[in-house]
Amino acid sequence: MKKLRLILGDQLNSNHSWFNEVDENVVYVLAEMLQEATYTKHHIQKVVAFFLSMRNFSMTLKSKGHQVIYYQITDENNPQNLEKIITVCLEKQQIEKFEYQLPDEYRLDLQLKTIASNLKIPTEAFDSEHFYTTCDELATFYKGKKLLLMENFYRNMRKKHHLLMNGSTPEGNQWNFDHDNRKKYKGEIPVPKEKNFNTNVTEILLEIKHAGIQTIGNIKEECFNWPTSRTECLAVLEYFCTHLLPHFGDYEDAMHTEEKFLFHSRLSFALNSKMLSPKEVIETVIACYHNNEAKISISQVEGFVRQILGWREYIRGIYWKEMPHYAQMNVLENYNKLPDFFWNGNTKMNCVKHAIDQSLNQAYAHHIQRLMVIGNFTLLTQIHPNEVDAWYLGVYIDAIEWVEMPNTRGMSQYADGGIIATKPYISSGSYINKMSNYCLKCSYNVKEKIGDNACPFNSLYWNFLDEKKDYFKGNQRMAMMLNLLKKMKPEDLYQIKIKANEIITNPDGY
Ligand code: FAD
Ligand code: SF4
Repeated sequence: MKKLRLILGDQLNSNHSWFNEVDENVVYVLAEMLQEATYTKHHIQKVVAFFLSMRNFSMTLKSKGHQVIYYQITDENNPQNLEKIITVCLEKQQIEKFEYQLPDEYRLDLQLKTIASNLKIPTEAFDSEHFYTTCDELATFYKGKKLLLMENFYRNMRKKHHLLMNGSTPEGNQWNFDHDNRKKYKGEIPVPKEKNFNTNVTEILLEIKHAGIQTIGNIKEECFNWPTSRTECLAVLEYFCTHLLPHFGDYEDAMHTEEKFLFHSRLSFALNSKMLSPKEVIETVIACYHNNEAKISISQVEGFVRQILGWREYIRGIYWKEMPHYAQMNVLENYNKLPDFFWNGNTKMNCVKHAIDQSLNQAYAHHIQRLMVIGNFTLLTQIHPNEVDAWYLGVYIDAIEWVEMPNTRGMSQYADGGIIATKPYISSGSYINKMSNYCLKCSYNVKEKIGDNACPFNSLYWNFLDEKKDYFKGNQRMAMMLNLLKKMKPEDLYQIKIKANEIITNPDGY
C-alpha cells in the first residue's frame, strides 16, 4: 500500500519510529506554506529558523534513503496551503493511504481532521513521540480537583519517570529549590559568550521577501545564531551543560542590561521544533550533574528539570484541556490596545525598552522579562488579551500556540481566571528593581508613585488593584495587597489613579 506521510514544520523529530526503516512505499511531504507563514505576523528570525530547519531535516531524510517531496516557499508549483498540498501529492503519487502525526495546535488539529475525513482513502494519525505526556494525561490527573497546581503534577512526573529521585525521595531531599533560584546578577560571575553558528541567511531572506511574507523584528544576514539542524541543537545542549548549567538556577529570575541571555539555555526552539526531545535534554542534563556534582548543585539542575518536565508538559496539558474556549477568555474584561512601542521599542521605561528591543532584535526574551516586565505592563495597563497573545505569538522564536497561549493569556494576563496562576503576576517597580539593574539608568525613579519622574509601574500597580478589587476580593493570596490598598489615604489613591490613567490613555508618551 503506497502511503503519504505529512511532516509539519514543528515535527522535525528524526528519532520518530516512522524513520526506523526505509520503505519504498512511503513518501514524506514537507512544505513551507503561506498558510503557516502568515496566520499571524511572525518574527523574521522565526520564519527563517523554521524554513532552514525544515530544509535541513528533509535533506537528512533524503540522505538516509527516504523519499521526500519538499516544497520551498517560492516554488512555482507550491499550492501554499495544507489541503491543496495533500490533494496534489495524493493524486500525483497515486497514494492509497494518508498518515500524519498529531499536531500540537488546535487550529491544525481541526484542519487535518477535516481534510482526513473528506479523503476517499484510509487515513491514520500517529503520536508525535515527543512529549512525556499524552494530550489528555493532565486532564485525567486533575480529574475532580478544583486547583490545578503545577507542583502536584510536577512531583507526580518526577516519580513516574524516576527523574532526580533516590527511590521514593527526591534528590537533595527537597522537591523544589525555587527559593534558591532568585539571585540578582551583579556581574560577579562572567556569563559565557553565546553559542554562535553565524549562518548566512541572505538567500532565504530574499525568498521570504519574494514570497511577500510580512514579518516583524530584525535579523542580521550574515550571523544567524539559532540552531537549525539536529547537530546544531545538540551543540547548544552541550554548550548549556558545560558552560551555563552550573549557574542556571541561581540566576533564573535575574535580568541585566548587558546580559540578554544570562545562564538560560535558549533550547526552546530546538525543543518546540522537536529537533531535540525533552527526554534527551533532561537525561543529558541530569547525567552532566551526576558527573560533576562538585561543580553543579542540585538547585541548578532541579530548577531546569522543573521547567521542562513540569512547566512545559503542564502548559501543554492545560492547552488541550481548555481549548477552544481558552482562546476567548478575558475574565478581567481588559480592552485596551497595545502601545506602538511594542513594535519599535520607543519607550523611556528602561526595563520595558530592554525587554522589547531584545524581543525585536533576538526573537527572544527570557521568562521573567516576558512575565514580570512586558506581561506585567500589559496586564497593569489592561490591554486586551487578544492583542497581547498576538504579539507574543508573533515575536518569539519559540512561540507556537500550544505553549504561547496558556503562558500569555493564562499565566501572564490572568485572563483565564486563575486556571494556571493562583494570583495575577503583577508588581510595582520594586520587584523589577530587586531582580535587575534596569532602574539604575532609567528616566524614571523607582521609588516615586506620582509626579513626572515616577516609575509608571508604581501608579499602575495600585490602580490595577483598585480597579479589580471586587474581582479579587475572595482570593486569599491577594488579601494582603488589598488590605494595603484599603489603608491607603483616599487623596493619595486619587493622585495615583490620575497618574495611572494618564499612562493608560497615552502609554506611548512614557
Ligand atoms: P530556559 O530558561 O533555559 O528554560 C529551559 C526550557 O524550559 C525552555 O527552553 C522551555 O522549553 C522550558 N520552559 C521554561 N518555562 C516554560 C514555560 N512557562 N512553559 C513552557 N516551557 C517552559 N515558551 C515557549 O516555548 N514558547 C512560548 O511561546 C512561550 N511564551 C511565553 C509567554 C510568556 C508570557 C511567558 C511568561 C513565558 C513563555 N514561555 C514560552 C516560557 C519561557 O519564557 C520560554 O520557554 C523560555 O524563555 C525559553 O528560553 P530558554 O530556552 O532559554 O529557557
Ligand atoms: Fe522599569 Fe520603573 Fe525601573 Fe524604570 S524605574 S526600569 S520603568 S521599573
